[in-house]
Amino acid sequence: MSSERRKRLWSQLDNKKVDALLITSGETIRYITGFTGSESVFLVSRRGGCLIVDSRYTSQAHVECKNISIKESRNKFKGFVAAAAQRGFKKIGFDPQQLTVSHYRELKKEGSFALVELSEDIEAIRAVKDAGELKLLKKAADISSNSFLDVLDEIRPGDREEAIARSLEYTIKKNGAETTPFPLIVASGKRGALPHGLATGKKVRRGEFVTVDFGAVYRGYCSDETCTVVIGKPAQKQKMVYQAVKEAHDKAMNAVRPGIQAHTIDVVARGVLEQAGLGHYFGHGTGHGVGLAVHEAPRIAPDQEAIIEKDMVFTIEPGVYIPGWGGVRIEDTVRVTRGGCEPVSSVSKELYCI
Ligand code: ZN
Ligand code: ZN
Repeated sequence: MSSERRKRLWSQLDNKKVDALLITSGETIRYITGFTGSESVFLVSRRGGCLIVDSRYTSQAHVECKNISIKESRNKFKGFVAAAAQRGFKKIGFDPQQLTVSHYRELKKEGSFALVELSEDIEAIRAVKDAGELKLLKKAADISSNSFLDVLDEIRPGDREEAIARSLEYTIKKNGAETTPFPLIVASGKRGALPHGLATGKKVRRGEFVTVDFGAVYRGYCSDETCTVVIGKPAQKQKMVYQAVKEAHDKAMNAVRPGIQAHTIDVVARGVLEQAGLGHYFGHGTGHGVGLAVHEAPRIAPDQEAIIEKDMVFTIEPGVYIPGWGGVRIEDTVRVTRGGCEPVSSVSKELYCI
């Protein structure tokens, strides 16, 4: 186990009168223990940790996790109750965003401890990345950016969105990714008005925008990037909308620096689109953290007061979605530096005409 990460987890929970924590988020378990299996429950205290897995994962856990005890149990929550009782824990903290109601009820019924709902976002412990993580994030981004450029050359009018998505996914995996962090988005023409339009059998046509949102997973770490390209020559309105979104993206990136609150970056992107008369068409937040999960802390959205810190990694992705017309989203993943930020994803965001 990374004792430095476990210590940081405890220091983040200052003043909490709990004996231990219940962690159920797979990404946070991996972050602290190194365990990569898809199902486990983690009991962690100031002194150490106990990972509860079923028999499918016992050998794997022994290989991947150092300095923690591994407990095999057919029912992981029953195993958790037994491990907590053995250690005499009376108060166990949990993150309400990560525990299902049925598991909560089961623990209340079976456990000899009180469950304490924590107000802190335990997941936020992963927001600032260390040097090793930054390398993996860069590698994931390089794989997906380069794969996109490979596939971009092959897009022709008449190709179906799903064929483009398949080809991109294949290229991303061929170039070294374990998988993609989400089903790739390819949305053309009017479908571009759907912010998360999954690829369909629709053919891309000359004169249309095509929004492609893509990423790779490399050794657990994700990348996330969106390019909107035009097939042929852009019309005047397309140029206008693209330039507005690009300006929102660029100005938001320029606004990033350590010490500011997350929402101030969102305000910049939103302000540009409002000035262009397009604010109404930008419904989602400006960005989200990227790491072991493709959506994690910090969120870059209105009302988000989290302080931006050096080596946080998150997206900047303003978009405009006009029903019946189409849409544009421009997304880069950035790393916060001492005085600003630098892009982790690498495809140029000048408008590509293909
Ligand atoms: Zn994306
Ligand atoms: Zn994103």
